[in-house]
Amino acid sequence: MIPYGRHSVSTDDIETVVDVLQHQFLTQGQQVPAFEQALVQYTGGEYCIAVNSGTSALHIACLALGIGAGDLVWTVPNSFAASANCALYCGASIDFVDIDPITRNLCPKALEVKLNHCKAQGLDLPKAIVVVHFSGLACAMEHIAELARTYDIALIEDAAHGLGGRYPCGNKIGAGTYADFTTLSFHPVKSITTAEGGALMTNNQELAKRARLFASHGITKDPSELQNVNPQEPWVYQQQALGFNYRLSDIHAALGINQLKRLDQFITARLRIAQRYQAALSALPITLPILDTNSAWHLYVIELQSHDRAQVFNALRAAGVGVNVHYIPIHWHPYYSELGFEKGQFPNSETYYRHAISLPIFPALTHQEQDHVIDVLYKELA
Ligand SMILES: *Cc1c(COP(=O)(O)O)cnc(C)c1O
Repeated sequence: MIPYGRHSVSTDDIETVVDVLQHQFLTQGQQVPAFEQALVQYTGGEYCIAVNSGTSALHIACLALGIGAGDLVWTVPNSFAASANCALYCGASIDFVDIDPITRNLCPKALEVKLNHCKAQGLDLPKAIVVVHFSGLACAMEHIAELARTYDIALIEDAAHGLGGRYPCGNKIGAGTYADFTTLSFHPVKSITTAEGGALMTNNQELAKRARLFASHGITKDPSELQNVNPQEPWVYQQQALGFNYRLSDIHAALGINQLKRLDQFITARLRIAQRYQAALSALPITLPILDTNSAWHLYVIELQSHDRAQVFNALRAAGVGVNVHYIPIHWHPYYSELGFEKGQFPNSETYYRHAISLPIFPALTHQEQDHVIDVLYKELA
């Protein structure tokens, strides 16, 4: 089965990890700070806090922004559940803003309408918005950031799909151009992998400090942070907040450092695959994604126009094509129904979902494999 996504691990990656196992600290050594520095260098962001998953990064971003009981967070239905769960972890409430059917990202117009409506009706406004650069394509950040400024709302970019992508202004996703935090994931299907892993990027020193505190038990031993410290007691550490152990290990970080060296190659390979699909599939009765050369191309999603999605999906799987579906709208999950969300509330996300199929796209996908995917699609759809 050709998977929809797959990591590329080189012998050099393996040797780097073995070196850590043989000669270095396994955790809290030099690899994690070096990985954080490499991410700062790559993205152009100022501060980086590496953590053990993209989900942890989202949770920590919410905590550092002071989100808690009584607060409201908005995100999009067309994402992985973690984009919404992070608010619930903090005791806050969640609501959604629909997507733009063309970009499949948060619709800035829908956001504006919803904000104006809530303000006019005296309803609660969100304390933070989690935007998702779906498939690696940057959201309309200029417009969204302007609305966030107007309404004094914090912005979190869930860039689990976005590392290696750029905004139209040319800055890299993660540069901190628009949001308070940008979160990354290093799960094996993402742009680079550490097996499990994630990171927060921010340009705000205070937020960076708070994020680091929450990611390591809320405990610090930084002399400049300690309260009422006695210089005769150099061993002192203090818990100053209720944090978590969300640290990344040095074994994982070493893999990340090495992977990051090949990130641009990975993104170029993904773009080539997207371009090849785009040229080959344009004659079929399907909606293709926007071919944006700034995208990180985490996913290549087609939308069927008249064919039955389940039938086509199952035919592709039967022919050895490991297609997938991204995403079941978050508010459709039983857990979210129990919170009061209903089908029909976010029609663009729901219509998109009913027709979407994610085709295989990953750096090592061969032309031969891709041609097989294309042939099967022609057999089913032409
Ligand atoms: C992968 C992903 C996450 C979660 O990342 P993990 O590292 O798996 O915890 C969050 N949001 C989106 C959009 C993702 O694709």
